[in-house]
Amino acid sequence: MNTCIFCKIVNKDIPNHTVYEDDNTLAFLDIKPHTKGHTIVIPKKHGILANDFTELEYLELMRAARIVMKKLKLKLSPDGFNIGWNDGTAAGQVVPHLHLHIMPRWNGDGGGSQHSIINNPGDMSVEEVIKFF
Ligand code: AMP
Ligand code: ZN
Repeated sequence: MNTCIFCKIVNKDIPNHTVYEDDNTLAFLDIKPHTKGHTIVIPKKHGILANDFTELEYLELMRAARIVMKKLKLKLSPDGFNIGWNDGTAAGQVVPHLHLHIMPRWNGDGGGSQHSIINNPGDMSVEEVIKFF
């Protein structure tokens, strides 16, 4: 039995506040919003990490994210957005079903940028890291 909470939302076993839905994706308001209109966008198919999905599935998720941004802009008139996802527990992922966070932002709302997630560059220089590629 699939106990994933986001699969339960997809299957309508638990309710959600839907912002957008299509055949492959669902977007709903985060139950504990960090900003007004904080929205979660998920593939309907279960998978934990971005790399668990095909390129097409990934692109479908990004397409939905773009639509959600447009809807949020139209309805709530934010000044900007933070968009991202916690890919893996090391990155803070709690719900093990891939999901994008779309957070509308307003001038002077007191929040930070993506850079405020972490500032721990490690012990290698940029010149040393590029040698891995
Ligand atoms: P994370 O896994 O840390 O990227 O974040 C999971 C997010 O899912 C959190 O922001 C939760 O508030 C949100 N969340 C968990 N359960 C629900 C739910 N039933 N409905 C809406 N959002 C949820
Ligand atoms: Zn799931």
